[in-house]
Amino acid sequence: SPPSIGVDVGGTKIATGVLIGDELHARHVQPTPETGWEAVLDAVAAQVQALRAQHPQVTRVGVGVPGPLAEGRTRVKFAPNIYGFTDVPLVQGLEDRLGLRVVLENDAKAAALAEAHLGAARGTASSVYVTVSTGIGSGIVLGGRVWRGHHGIAGELGHVTVMPGGPVSGAGLDGALEAVASGTAIARDASYALNREVSTAEAFALAQSGHPAAGRVVSQALRHIGVALADLQKFLDPEVFVIGGGVAKVGDFFFAGIQAAADEYAGPFAPVTLRRAQLGTDAGVIGAALAARLEGL
Ligand code: BGC
Repeated sequence: SPPSIGVDVGGTKIATGVLIGDELHARHVQPTPETGWEAVLDAVAAQVQALRAQHPQVTRVGVGVPGPLAEGRTRVKFAPNIYGFTDVPLVQGLEDRLGLRVVLENDAKAAALAEAHLGAARGTASSVYVTVSTGIGSGIVLGGRVWRGHHGIAGELGHVTVMPGGPVSGAGLDGALEAVASGTAIARDASYALNREVSTAEAFALAQSGHPAAGRVVSQALRHIGVALADLQKFLDPEVFVIGGGVAKVGDFFFAGIQAAADEYAGPFAPVTLRRAQLGTDAGVIGAALAARLEGL
């Protein structure tokens, strides 16, 4: 299989690399420009050019973005957690800058594809990858292929309503899962509860060491995620869930909280099987590169 470049555009960083066979090479991470989408495309194009200087044989580029896509996956409808990233003609913008064909994919769908082909869900007939980071997203893979749904929004788990009237998501929906349980939501709620600035990582560390207020914030978030997975088990019944994203890096404590709520709310139907992402924070880059490869450009 030919080598391809993968790009994962996140709310805070842009990660890139070259996928050769099953291995990711030349990883690079830079901050996401905060001055609008044109600047983001400029930064992506510059990094892709730098990679091509080292790997001139690469002609395929896949880009993952944190939001729903439109128009045959040529545009980003909006990215709830990146300021100014609305109705972005990303494929055209990058093809003009690069003179190469570009494949666009949602970030969670890209990571889902990577985990299904090369990671924790390898060999399964159905899997759902869930990322918990700045936002919450998911990707559904059935028989090795991403399930997109009719409008392409299948898997927008972060915007499923779990607390009507609750905090509002970047998509303007109150009580969305990511507004109550993402890394951003945990940091916000812990900061409020402790009356000082608390990061997501610190909230977990405090919760783990027995801090009652931080503990309540973290367990409430994990409970909402676990309940959502139990609902998905009943609704879609995937073989496994693969959990990744920045927040998942905190480890056992995180998984135990989600599993407990999932078990409780799965009730008598079927067990909810959680696996940790194997590709870690590379999943998005690998998945974007894989999308370009599999789509044969
Ligand atoms: C977006 C998803 C994305 C997720 C994770 C959500 O806010 O709507 O498309 O996959 O964040 O980045």
